[in-house]
Amino acid sequence: MSNAVSVRINDARHLRFALYDVLDAEALTVLPHFSAHSRDTFDAALDLAEKIALEKFAPHNRKSDLNEPAFVDGKVKLIPEIEDALLAYNQAGFTAASIDAERGGMQLPFMVTTACDTLFAAANASTVAYPSLARGVANLLLGYGTPAQIERYAQPIIEGRYFGTMCLSEPQAGSSLADIRCRAEVQPDGSYRLSGAKMWISAGDHELGENIVHLVLAKIVGAPAGVRGISLFIVPRYCVNADGTRGARNDVQLAGLNHKMGQRGSVNTFLKFGESGECYAELVGEPHHGLSYMFHMMNEERIGVGVGAIAQGIAGYLYSLDYARERRQGRHPDQKDPNSPPVTLIEHADVRRMLLAQRAYAEGSHVLALYAARLVDEGFDESRRDVSRLLLELLTPIVKAWSSDYTLRANEMAIQVLGGYGYTRDYPVEQYYRDNRINPIHEGTNGIQAIDLLGRKVMMQNGAALRALIEVVNADIDLARTLEPLKELADRLAVARDQILSVTLRAGQRMAAGEVRAVLANATFYLNALGHLCIGWIWLRQARVALSAATLDADFVAGKVATCCFFFATELPQITHWCKIVDSDDSTLAMREEWF
Ligand SMILES: Cc1cc2nc3c(=O)[nH]c(=O)nc-3n(C[C@H](O)[C@H](O)[C@H](O)COP(=O)(O)OP(=O)(O)OC[C@H]3O[C@@H](n4cnc5c(N)ncnc54)[C@H](O)[C@@H]3O)c2cc1C
Repeated sequence: MSNAVSVRINDARHLRFALYDVLDAEALTVLPHFSAHSRDTFDAALDLAEKIALEKFAPHNRKSDLNEPAFVDGKVKLIPEIEDALLAYNQAGFTAASIDAERGGMQLPFMVTTACDTLFAAANASTVAYPSLARGVANLLLGYGTPAQIERYAQPIIEGRYFGTMCLSEPQAGSSLADIRCRAEVQPDGSYRLSGAKMWISAGDHELGENIVHLVLAKIVGAPAGVRGISLFIVPRYCVNADGTRGARNDVQLAGLNHKMGQRGSVNTFLKFGESGECYAELVGEPHHGLSYMFHMMNEERIGVGVGAIAQGIAGYLYSLDYARERRQGRHPDQKDPNSPPVTLIEHADVRRMLLAQRAYAEGSHVLALYAARLVDEGFDESRRDVSRLLLELLTPIVKAWSSDYTLRANEMAIQVLGGYGYTRDYPVEQYYRDNRINPIHEGTNGIQAIDLLGRKVMMQNGAALRALIEVVNADIDLARTLEPLKELADRLAVARDQILSVTLRAGQRMAAGEVRAVLANATFYLNALGHLCIGWIWLRQARVALSAATLDADFVAGKVATCCFFFATELPQITHWCKIVDSDDSTLAMREEWF
């Protein structure tokens, strides 16, 4: 291989700067819920995560890509390195990293565990999917399960003995959950029997751990039509006896494995329930409220999807950066002497453009995702709880969709920086792209996220969430204006802010006047525009904090400011263009189907 460089999963300076300088992680330790923690315990968790990610996750990233899960002798067979990595992950406490100490968890802020997740996902996106899903199941049950359900199903996940899944999608119902067909019938003892099929279920069948807790959306016989008739059920792979021991096998059958483009190490399944026997199920919470409970898990998972995407963006950026420093090719346009030594790739302006763009997308969305994770932690702060929840609601589709769209572009550029080598399987960047490609699709496609953002999130409570965001942005604009090098950038962000505000107002008026379909036809352009405003804001904050910090390395500060300037020069102006489209009479709906 030519100019192969080592895989890197982290730029430690960036991560520490994001957590401590930009987002003031230490301030969270003032809250009683996190008072046992300090910067030292946060750093210890980050260091341990990086060590395990490098030693146990990264080494089999390619192997699990080349050796997909297989169905052998009635069982799903995974490469053994996955179990070994998950054992180390669990023993180090990461399964229960943000769970309360009284339940055996580390009670770390979600912001810190999200930072750790970035490291694991950059090392191996498919292996970390198993505990991430399980943790989401445990958290949902801790919120909505009965004490008995928590003991029986959540606690073993926290202890690393059980895994879990979320079963929403069906072959005929992906984006539209209103049309699910899974049915549940109540039994005299209050339990349910489930029948139906679920498609695309990640981690749906394997031999890791003792049991799998499926959280399944289904409709109770006689339930109202649409999403109002959806309930949520626990469906264990093995029933659990009253004393907590593993009981009989439940009727959840693996009907097939899906063969994916990327993240091939995480098994993806087609499951059938109650096909050849009785499928035992327990209702979670109230009947017909299932979707709102599932959204609890999905919101957390959506931040997780954004973080998974960002991790691929960071890994691709760092690899292509190191490669561009090594490989020599060609000369500058004004260097005419063929005997002069070739320059490294990084000296070419076009390669720098691709490195800067990758950095702007990946590090920008990383800080935004960590900011969103901090909002979850602010739920433990009574004085901030309401506003933080509003901001989180608004930012979740942006963290999910903007990050996955733009870090995928970053991965494409990483391949381009390596040229032909990047296109081969001898280098990791093509896998980063393939592993990332799922992120705009699952957990609600990015098209659906955009409709949710413009149709609901920015309009809810009369625009309260957007107003809360604008207040935060305004505070950063004011602070940036106090620094001479950032004055002009702050003014430009203020112009973009005003454009977003007026386009949102007009979109709201048009939708109220009945033009819902025409306005939402351009929802993706709106998400791009608001996403760019958020990333511009985050870069302005990073530049200001970097310039104001006394102890940072001068090159690091200059790099942050230059990347901010790059984003403002090449990306921010697009907001004007997208806002015009959102404001326009729609052209996509005017195009008739028969004209295609
Ligand atoms: C690798 C992988 C892992 C997955 N893991 C899980 C899992 O663990 N659990 C689970 O429940 N599901 C899982 N899914 C399913 C995933 O969430 C769905 O694939 C996704 O929601 C889209 O549904 P669909 O595939 O049926 O596509 P469709 O819903 O058919 O959508 C196809 C296209 O049409 C667009 N579209 C659909 N409806 C609308 C609309 N109303 N307005 C505008 N555009 C629309 C979509 O944006 C998309 O571009 C996974 C999928 C994959 C591929």
